[in-house]
Amino acid sequence: MSSSQQPFRLAVIGSGPAGVYAAETLLRSAPVKSGELEVSIDLFDQLPAPFGLIRYGVAPDHPRIKGIITALHRILGRGDIRFLGDVEFGTDLTAEDLRTHYDAVIFATGALKDADLPVPGVELEGSHGAADFVAWYDGNPDYPRTWELDAEQVAVIGNGNVALDVARVLSKSADELLRTEIPENVHTGLKDARTTDVHVFGRRGPAQTKFSPLEARELAHPQGLQVVMDPRDLEQITEAQWEAIRSDKRTDQVVQTFVGWLEEQQRREAAGEEPTDREGRPVQRRLHMHFWHRPVEILGEDGSVTGMRFERTHLDEEGTLQGTGEFVDYELGAVYRAVGYHGSPLPGIPYDPQRGVLHNAAGRVTEADGTVIPGVYANGWIKRGPVGLIGATKSDAIETIACVLEDIDAGVLAPAPVRDDEAILRLLEDRGVEYTTWDGWMALDAHEQSLGAAAVDADGEPRARIKVVEREEMVRVSRDAVQEPSRA
Ligand SMILES: Cc1cc2nc3c(=O)[nH]c(=O)nc-3n(C[C@H](O)[C@H](O)[C@H](O)COP(=O)(O)OP(=O)(O)OC[C@H]3O[C@@H](n4cnc5c(N)ncnc54)[C@H](O)[C@@H]3O)c2cc1C
Repeated sequence: MSSSQQPFRLAVIGSGPAGVYAAETLLRSAPVKSGELEVSIDLFDQLPAPFGLIRYGVAPDHPRIKGIITALHRILGRGDIRFLGDVEFGTDLTAEDLRTHYDAVIFATGALKDADLPVPGVELEGSHGAADFVAWYDGNPDYPRTWELDAEQVAVIGNGNVALDVARVLSKSADELLRTEIPENVHTGLKDARTTDVHVFGRRGPAQTKFSPLEARELAHPQGLQVVMDPRDLEQITEAQWEAIRSDKRTDQVVQTFVGWLEEQQRREAAGEEPTDREGRPVQRRLHMHFWHRPVEILGEDGSVTGMRFERTHLDEEGTLQGTGEFVDYELGAVYRAVGYHGSPLPGIPYDPQRGVLHNAAGRVTEADGTVIPGVYANGWIKRGPVGLIGATKSDAIETIACVLEDIDAGVLAPAPVRDDEAILRLLEDRGVEYTTWDGWMALDAHEQSLGAAAVDADGEPRARIKVVEREEMVRVSRDAVQEPSRA
């Protein structure tokens, strides 16, 4: 392994799982562990706090997944990766700055925006991107603090796990979420919500959802929630399709969840029993599952959503989705479009607007024509698009870091002219960038936990944490406690 000027200086842009795992994979690689390669890593994020979508995407009522933060915290807490938050690539730092100060850069900037739903009416008031709603309920400092929740009938378009998160948060009582880390403004907003019915629409059938069995079952968990199924949606599954369903364990488990809900609903109807939630409590809200519904148009009046038109669909013998020519309208006050995320361009770095990713080959960033740009890499959702769970960013990192090590070995990386750890800090300070550090994050983390400990949930138990949601306050709490940004 040859590196012209030790240590090898790496910048990672984005401190979500893809950024942290990329840095960690390099640190755990054989050349680094054997001492053959010395590395110096700076991890930047535009937000004052680390962890990307784990902090600002994963639903607050999924503490087990949020708990992955503990593992990432342990990695960053070791001191061999220097975290610098509140630094935006493209505004506070340019591609030229990175070339000057680092031998290589890995972009791990994720995908933060909603993918388009190309139907008329998408711009109407009350038509929301799921990414914006998620950013609101998870307290992302860059999003508005208030959210209009005055519609009684609400639609969630999409059949992926993000659609489920959004439907679940809309279906839960605010107090049920109080034991999580939701910010105060989110609790207040959800408490005042007038939602009575949440409708989840999928273009395909129950077997074609991307739900995990656990998350599908969890939909029926909120207190006072009745799940409503349409028998027609299951009746239109053909015998051949049932065979395919039974041959795949995950699909079978998901579909059996829907079958179970429908059977219980039909049993109650036949017995003339009042519907209840799954624990027999009175119904406060309903969650309607609608399959085989292709979005056609969001309907509106005076600029606001009043409903949505769908065409019913079916799968033909080749398994291709076809419209049936039957159109159905629903009266709705709000529509949440959970049809996927999309990456954003980064100034000076070749970007594929179609796929919302950086042009790359196995993690080496390339020009649009495939020519490799030495020393520039990508990892995570900005590398391969917004699909896959957190774990997938780890295998991504292995691939990307293999390219980095190969390129170091081949001597194709131009050494950065400035090789002083402090120079980048001086540059940021000269530009008036109020960067935050790992010590600053520790202070903010402790502050949020103490806010939680001082408050109680609906059962009188201390709350897990209360997130600080104003960027200025996050920066203030972080910087008030700051010593020098450290790399042990
Ligand atoms: C709503 C939602 C729920 C999810 N729930 C789960 C779940 O329950 N379980 C699961 O396994 N996976 C879940 N995922 C998927 C998981 O979040 C992703 O797989 C993972 O976060 C992708 O990692 P990443 O590091 O590529 O991107 P991100 O986590 O988005 O991290 C990107 C980071 O880059 C930073 N950044 C962006 N642009 C810049 C810039 N210009 N300068 C500096 N920094 C920048 C961002 O602030 C962010 O911190 C969910 C995703 C969403 C959207």
